[in-house]
Amino acid sequence: MQNLYELTHADLTARFAQWGYSHYFVDLVWHALYRQRVQTWAEMVDVRRDVLEKLQAEFTLPQPVVQIAQKSSDGYTRKFLLAPNGAPIETVIMQFKGRYTACVSSQVGCAMGCIFCATGQMGYTRNLSAGEIVTQVLHVQRVLEAQGETLRNIVLMGMGEPLHNYDNVIRAIDIITDHKGLAIATKHITLSTVGLPHKIRQLADEGHSFRLAVSLHGATNAVRQALVPVANAWTLEKVMEACRYYVEKRQRRIFFEWALIAGENDSAENAHAVGRLLHDIDCTLNVIPLNPTNGYGGAPSDHAAVHRFRDILHNEYGIRCTIRQRRGIDIAAGCGQLAITV
Ligand code: SAH
Ligand code: SF4
Repeated sequence: MQNLYELTHADLTARFAQWGYSHYFVDLVWHALYRQRVQTWAEMVDVRRDVLEKLQAEFTLPQPVVQIAQKSSDGYTRKFLLAPNGAPIETVIMQFKGRYTACVSSQVGCAMGCIFCATGQMGYTRNLSAGEIVTQVLHVQRVLEAQGETLRNIVLMGMGEPLHNYDNVIRAIDIITDHKGLAIATKHITLSTVGLPHKIRQLADEGHSFRLAVSLHGATNAVRQALVPVANAWTLEKVMEACRYYVEKRQRRIFFEWALIAGENDSAENAHAVGRLLHDIDCTLNVIPLNPTNGYGGAPSDHAAVHRFRDILHNEYGIRCTIRQRRGIDIAAGCGQLAITV
């Protein structure tokens, strides 16, 4: 039996064509799944009985089970521990200026091992399927809907390295953006990667139009490799070549991310190295003062260091540089804090 949430609209259309059903029936089922957001077959009241029987014979409709739901004292952040198919996954809802963003996971754990990241510290368990990614978004939509709100943005910045699970992530994005279903605007989706050069090139070649964010953290190989072990294999030169290829080919800007760690990568010298690296590429740099994790002793840069870093980039190199607000730290829902602890 296959998970029905794994299918794109095109897949469902092909399956229905084999069964001799027209587009009309595809759209009814799709509507029930992604607009009515039913959770059981019984709720698919608009779908004809014979169609429903065919579906039930071949597909399952697995729902995420909320094991833990937490609210941050900041009033803007909620975290859910979901277990679709028993896989523990963390999903976060964040509110910025009245708009809602879902931070979605792509893997259970992560194989990239960045030393300052709780997900990296837990190691890699497995990839999430497209359906397991899609149902996180459905869960968030249901939660928001219950309070009369709607989901606007999705960031693939939860647990895992999305480009290490490329096919499932791309398939999930196809489903999430389908205009007859959840219809999340592609421009409101951001995929964040540790920087896998061959996969960044593939994204450029395939012409995907969601936003791409690349986690840099170091502007020399020495600084980067000390924090991001995979930077030994994928050197800064290779990552930047792929980024330039992407910007050129897609004609769009890249977002770079930088976790600011006191005494590691936050000096004026570090800022100048970033400036020299990025001054001629269309980009925005998003700096994030380090969030605490159990497995790493480093400290976040203080206010003065964060602003010195930003000012050098902005004033001396003309690079857009934004400081990410720290959110949900008390419930370990901040960047890099997601890990299964139960
Ligand atoms: N694997 C992807 C996406 C998930 S992490 C990636 O690495 O890009 C999302 C962002 O949080 C990344 O930029 C990551 O480097 C950053 N991050 C990880 N641990 C962090 C921490 N402890 N404090 C602040 N940012 C962190
Ligand atoms: Fe994986 Fe991203 Fe964490 Fe690195 S920062 S370990 S790539 S989730």
